[in-house]
Amino acid sequence: MRHYDYILAGGGCAGLSLVYQLLESSLKEANILIIDPSEGEIPNKTWCYWSTESLPIHPEYARFSWKSFYLKDTQKKLSKSLDQLAYYHLNSHDFYAHVLGKIKAHPQVHFLKDEVQKVTSEADTVELETKSSGSYTCSWVFDSRVSIPVNSENLLQQVFIGLRIKSDTPLFDPERLGLMDFDTKASKDFDFVYTLPFSTQEALIEYTAYTTEALEEEQLLESLTAYIAKKYGSISYEIQFRESGKIPMTTRNLFSARASRHVPLGTAAGWTKPSTGYTFSLIQENCAHIVKQLEQGQAKTLSFPRKKRFIFYDNILLTIAHRWPKKLPGVFLNLFSSASPDLVFRFLAEKTSFREELRLLSGLRFGIFIKGLLRYGTH
Ligand SMILES: Cc1cc2nc3c(=O)[nH]c(=O)nc-3n(C[C@H](O)[C@H](O)[C@H](O)COP(=O)(O)OP(=O)(O)OC[C@H]3O[C@@H](n4cnc5c(N)ncnc54)[C@H](O)[C@@H]3O)c2cc1C
Repeated sequence: MRHYDYILAGGGCAGLSLVYQLLESSLKEANILIIDPSEGEIPNKTWCYWSTESLPIHPEYARFSWKSFYLKDTQKKLSKSLDQLAYYHLNSHDFYAHVLGKIKAHPQVHFLKDEVQKVTSEADTVELETKSSGSYTCSWVFDSRVSIPVNSENLLQQVFIGLRIKSDTPLFDPERLGLMDFDTKASKDFDFVYTLPFSTQEALIEYTAYTTEALEEEQLLESLTAYIAKKYGSISYEIQFRESGKIPMTTRNLFSARASRHVPLGTAAGWTKPSTGYTFSLIQENCAHIVKQLEQGQAKTLSFPRKKRFIFYDNILLTIAHRWPKKLPGVFLNLFSSASPDLVFRFLAEKTSFREELRLLSGLRFGIFIKGLLRYGTH
């Protein structure tokens, strides 16, 4: 049975980010196997994150960023500067090309187009069974396969569809991204439109809903095209790119098997912020910790438990999203109007101190949070 130092069960964003960082470290000679059924078929995904500077994995040729943003509903538009932060954009094709370029220079990194079916941990080794290529052993397995819990009917998911369009006429302000526009077609879910303008004529416009229902892509597309027609009138445009996705919005653990050398990564590890769906920058940060610990030979367990108080805040927001979804636009507008974007974005990234959180929360209208607290539950 072939043995590797590291096997990646899943070569998506988290798996490839870890490999990239390993190849940047003193462990760059390690034997690595990446197992993924979709090797070569790169999904259309847009990864965005806020930061003072772009993340090291972000290729320079593919950097696009904004310094200001807006949130709006039918009555009010809140425009803000990001100050020392910028909101960065990276598409999955540029990301994969960049990481695969690095991997090419390392012949000891192998890809296997297959599915991991079973992972069995012993004291110092882990065995993986694949669907069609037999079994492999390794010293560490990093697993980013997501398994949605069986009792998932009430699981809130962020579902979305986005079109990158090019219009015949100038429509967009490329200086300012639309973080959330709540002026959407009537729906019972919490929903909004997100707009990333790349030029006056090109933008990625995305319709997003938080829902427990199995919404068809066509329903989402209908809401998106209705929004475009309402906002921009009867314009003609060419569709350059389409992306869609589902992100589980939960504070529950999505990863069942856990042993010290079987390490979850990415969404499977709970690195997706339950109330917003953002994951990309935490993937980079946690992968850097993993590499550092492996380099130091101190890697007994490689888990990254979230601070309890952030789980608590997320459960309150998810309670509101489940029970009173139409109150959430007011919550986000209130949050961004009562504090600096720097503080709000650091809070959403779980980088604030307790004192800062008290300052932030004391500026909010309390009613809906008290209701959320009274009906508090783990989601
Ligand atoms: C369309 C979309 C847009 C997003 N945009 C943002 C954003 O702007 N900012 C942000 O912070 N987050 C964003 N996210 C959330 C998050 O960053 C992404 O979902 C990210 O891809 C998560 O990385 P991952 O490695 O955990 O999962 P994935 O990238 O989905 O990788 C998991 C991999 O596991 C593989 N796999 C599945 N089953 C098996 C198996 N049995 N054996 C082997 N491999 C298997 C899959 O083929 C896949 O390649 C977005 C998510 C989606 C879906």
